[in-house]
Amino acid sequence: MIVLDGKKTAADIKEEIALEVVELKRRENIVPHLAAVIVGNDGASITYVNAKVKACERVGFESSLIRLPENTTEDDLLNEINILNVDKDIDGFIVQLPLPSHIDEQKIIMAIDPEKDVDGFHPTNVGKMALNLPTFISATPYGILELLDRYNVETSGKHVVVIGRSHIVGSPMSILLAQKRKVGNATVTITHSRTKNLKEITLQADIIIAALGIPEFLKADMIKDDVTVIDVGITRVPDSRKKSGYRLLGDVDYEEVSKKASFITPVPGGVGPMTIAMLLKNTLIACRNKI
Ligand code: NAD
Repeated sequence: MIVLDGKKTAADIKEEIALEVVELKRRENIVPHLAAVIVGNDGASITYVNAKVKACERVGFESSLIRLPENTTEDDLLNEINILNVDKDIDGFIVQLPLPSHIDEQKIIMAIDPEKDVDGFHPTNVGKMALNLPTFISATPYGILELLDRYNVETSGKHVVVIGRSHIVGSPMSILLAQKRKVGNATVTITHSRTKNLKEITLQADIIIAALGIPEFLKADMIKDDVTVIDVGITRVPDSRKKSGYRLLGDVDYEEVSKKASFITPVPGGVGPMTIAMLLKNTLIACRNKI
């Protein structure tokens, strides 16, 4: 069994990006700049957004964090987005999700300039992704593609089963892996909460992408030998032994599943760090697109 080490791979990618930043500065005298907007005080969201900003600093990017209070109105947020859309110093920006319930997320995503939408959530970019045109591929699926690529996991002709159909993970993942691309050409089955006999389907999989958000959902009796397992899930479960008061669990019963798998991502240290690295990569692409 080989552990797909997202932490190490993400560190390699960040090193590559840092070198490119030095080159960009030397040749063009420009430095990529990512801005992140966060509304409210959700603990997990603040942790994620801080990690993204810190990662920017480490690779030599400029970064801006815009923190808005929980009671920010939709109009105020739209106004903030317009400011970022026209700010020539900002190459790309993200609005950390989820947003408070009084704000329409889709309306906010639609307001972002697609050229600066480094999360790849704007319908223009989702459409381009679906058509296999150059665009910002959203960071989590992009990170999974990159991890499979760097570990030379064969996807062509393989049966991939994706568990979960969210717009940010399951759905794009299934589209990308079915496409004619280096990491792609797979036969993909997408499953969700209404899928019947899920176990019968997962037992046929060569590769499983688990993205449903239910801790340790995928058990050893649901997989065949030598399967590749990508665990996207991150759930915080209370743990009094930890300083933070919680530990992170994936959607895969790692202990049992790892004994049968040929490749597997751990949680933490798998898909999570890759997501941040690919957000940086998208920001670098946005910056280069301006030249
Ligand atoms: P979501 O809640 O938007 O969607 C969950 C999906 O799982 C839905 O499509 C639902 O139909 C499906 N589902 C629910 N119960 C199921 C069942 N019993 N059988 C089959 N399918 C079922 O989730 P999301 O935003 O895609 O996130 C999924 C998980 O991945 C969460 O734990 C989230 O925290 C994590 N996540 C991690 C990263 C990362 O960077 N590692 C990024 C995004 C999301």
